[in-house]
Amino acid sequence: MARAYNFSAGPSVLPESVLVKAAKEMLEYPGSGQSVMEMSHRSAEYEAIIDGAETLLREIMSIPDNYKVLFLQGGASSQFAMVPLNLFGIVPAADFVNTGTWSKKAIAEAKRYGAARVVATSEDKKFSYIPKLDRSMFDPAAAYVHITTNNTIEGTRFRQLPDIGSVPLVADMSSNILGEVYDVSKFGIIYAGAQKNIAPAGLTVVIIRDDLIGKALPITPTMFNYQVHADEKSKYNTPPCYCIYIAKLVFEWLKGLGGVAAMQRINERKAALLYEFLDNSKVFKGTAAPEFRSLMNVPFTSPSEEIDKRFIKEAAAAGFINLKGHRSVGGMRASIYNAMPEQGVVKLVEFMKKFESTVTK
Ligand code: PMP
Repeated sequence: MARAYNFSAGPSVLPESVLVKAAKEMLEYPGSGQSVMEMSHRSAEYEAIIDGAETLLREIMSIPDNYKVLFLQGGASSQFAMVPLNLFGIVPAADFVNTGTWSKKAIAEAKRYGAARVVATSEDKKFSYIPKLDRSMFDPAAAYVHITTNNTIEGTRFRQLPDIGSVPLVADMSSNILGEVYDVSKFGIIYAGAQKNIAPAGLTVVIIRDDLIGKALPITPTMFNYQVHADEKSKYNTPPCYCIYIAKLVFEWLKGLGGVAAMQRINERKAALLYEFLDNSKVFKGTAAPEFRSLMNVPFTSPSEEIDKRFIKEAAAAGFINLKGHRSVGGMRASIYNAMPEQGVVKLVEFMKKFESTVTK
């Protein structure tokens, strides 16, 4: 079977050129006599890989010098606990904007360690929009404000960052990091599971402002303390070495494309193509409020579960895989992350048009 167009929400498609390069270097990383998977994380060869990954990420995201980049394990889900454990040492209270399934999990986890106040929620309409926010809603004494910049399941995104004054903004950016341009200096912490826009599952990237390190609650496990990982340059213990190597290749690929701004323009074209089709379709309908539509995850429905099933099956047979929606929402979802080629979306829309004519006939 040839490689299909993979619309999985994560782990998801990686750039083909990255996979080809990794395959080429699989048995022997040039000049080292071993695979990256077999290397000591303390070796000079590996140091060059992890340092190279960090340098590239700093470059493509324009990360200021007063931020640390950490390569951790445990997924974004571990960050749901790690953030409060580390910042509740300032004051044990934080404000949250509840915009989806993942925000809810972050809130539930923070509640174990202090006060997690929900400032606004869009749960009344199945998280299909981003609530209106203004500065007066936020507690100026909170340790931080938490948002999910892109809601993977519901297909919404913040079009602008909330005005929260001087309180540190913490963002779960798992599903749109590197997909659009962000000014890192507006954030206290950015965290992201790698398995969408960065690398295979197993790596979590944390970008943290220096002054937020060293404030952990005394109960914080060693492995959950940002200070420990910052001091040891992400090598307190064995890091997810191979994932970091792939991340480096992905960062190189992205830089070669022209960086995040160029990527965003491509992503906007891909998303516009799909949304335009959905807006004019007699069969399919996008579920997110147009104003807040994600560039990365596009959930949509058909008139019945039966048609959903037939569509997903026929799409897979035609080479468009993993289009089934999340179990909590149903319907379909096309995740069109950075590595999804524009051509993949063009072909998907062509396929959907053809499918549509078999339903409306
Ligand atoms: N946050 C968001 C926005 C996500 O999309 C996901 C995973 N899909 C998570 C958190 C959880 O990530 P992980 O599986 O890496 O713990």
